[in-house]
Amino acid sequence: MRRTKLVTRPGFDWSLVAWGRPDSPRSALCSYCRAGIGEYDVPLMLWKNDGHAAQFCDECVEKWFTSEDESDRTKNNTAQRWRR
Ligand SMILES: [Zn+2]
Repeated sequence: MRRTKLVTRPGFDWSLVAWGRPDSPRSALCSYCRAGIGEYDVPLMLWKNDGHAAQFCDECVEKWFTSEDESDRTKNNTAQRWRR
């Protein structure tokens, strides 16, 4: 299975991410937009090297995260636009 690396889109502000301490209980809120995450929703979880964790609701994932492959495609499109 191929692993795609997640990258953030332009405009995403890492300073707005509320990183939870490693020993704090899991929050029910999105770490970025503070929207509630349903009990049965599966948020995107990210961990920093120091163990701090953040979770992102579906909306934020759709809005701010993309795979590296997709951003490569965008770059190519941009390059094509500039060539004209
Ligand atoms: Zn969110």
